[in-house]
Amino acid sequence: MLSLTDNQYQIQGIPLLDLAEKYGTPLYVYDTDRMQLQLKRLQEAFSGLPVRFKYACKALTNINILRLLHGWGVGIDAVSWEEVETAFRAGIPAQDIIMTPNCVSFSEVAQVVEKGVLVNIDNLSLLEQFGDHYGSKVPCCLRLNPHVVAGGNPQIQTGHIDSKFGISIYQLRHLLRIVENYQIQVIGLHMHTGSDIVDYRSFLQAAEVVYEAASHFSELQFMDFGSGFKVPYHPGQSETNIVELGQEVKKSFSSFCQKYGRDLELWFEPGKFFVSEAGYFLVTTNVVKQTPSTIFAGVNSGQNHLLRPMFYKSHHEILNITNPTGKPRIYNVVGYICEEDTFAIDRRIPSIKEGDVLCFLNAGAYCFSMSSNYNSRIKPAEVLLHKQQDYLIRKRENLEDLFRNQVIVDFESSQ
Ligand SMILES: *Cc1c(COP(=O)(O)O)cnc(C)c1O
Repeated sequence: MLSLTDNQYQIQGIPLLDLAEKYGTPLYVYDTDRMQLQLKRLQEAFSGLPVRFKYACKALTNINILRLLHGWGVGIDAVSWEEVETAFRAGIPAQDIIMTPNCVSFSEVAQVVEKGVLVNIDNLSLLEQFGDHYGSKVPCCLRLNPHVVAGGNPQIQTGHIDSKFGISIYQLRHLLRIVENYQIQVIGLHMHTGSDIVDYRSFLQAAEVVYEAASHFSELQFMDFGSGFKVPYHPGQSETNIVELGQEVKKSFSSFCQKYGRDLELWFEPGKFFVSEAGYFLVTTNVVKQTPSTIFAGVNSGQNHLLRPMFYKSHHEILNITNPTGKPRIYNVVGYICEEDTFAIDRRIPSIKEGDVLCFLNAGAYCFSMSSNYNSRIKPAEVLLHKQQDYLIRKRENLEDLFRNQVIVDFESSQ
């Protein structure tokens, strides 16, 4: 966990500035203690329930992260065949993986089913194809859309009426016809109502809708309540109250199981909750530029490496790890990409000079995994801190990586 000791920011006793020097910047750093703590918090919040966690690995896909989480008893939620293969590379067996794709072809589903992975089906067309192909031979899970709006940011809500995700609960009759017609074996019902859900009551509301639907399926083994667990991005900002959610879910799930007549497992698929606060992104200040309106701190990275501030207007705290306790001034922190590329506006940060290393917090989830090569910039390295040791878990890209798949045509000789 991050501490400020002897005027140095440290994680697991390792000064962040040392990592910046050793590996260079921009650099992603991940703290396994934090991931383990997050898992422990979830396990405690839902203790007493037959609960399983599936890490939504799109948040951070490094194989080492998947391996560690799996070693701690966590399965994988994948959204693409490539993520399924990533889980296999991490040594995770098919039975610990669920795939929850959206708008994929049946051939992608078939490819994954053939490897023994359970698929979560999210539209009726796919369900018909699934039934037509496998009948009752291959079990599946159904992603329902209970149409409960959860989460404050419309960009990351998935439960509303216009959402492309899940099978609308209003299509239940049609859904049941297909299931009966093909004798499809439905072993799980799933919902995922969005990200950053502050008010856990929306979970419970949506859960009621799914409990209701469950009475139509006699072979269920589990319910999957997705995720959307919010973490704090501002200091002191609220997060999903998982302790209260745990208590409430315990009540509602037990009474559901009683009515259903059998004990089912309860699954969750946190992505952000596991890794967001475990991640740190280190960048170096290239330019401090005073303009008539503000001071810009321009760093050696941008939306190519950390897109969330530009894409979602997300807030990431920024520390000056070279000058942790300096006198704060107001900065606009911007990147080097030829776009607006604004990380932060009017941010109070200890006085920044050129060459200072800045650190973005909450850089574990949807940061490296959303990075690109825009402006022909190479992607940063990733370092894992585990048991007081630092491990390089992804090399910094090099120039050749940019050209690897470009095909150079010989125009002269093809004429
Ligand atoms: C993205 C996703 C998650 C994880 O959401 P977080 O907000 O990161 O916890 C879980 N389930 C599904 C199906 C997803 O697509």
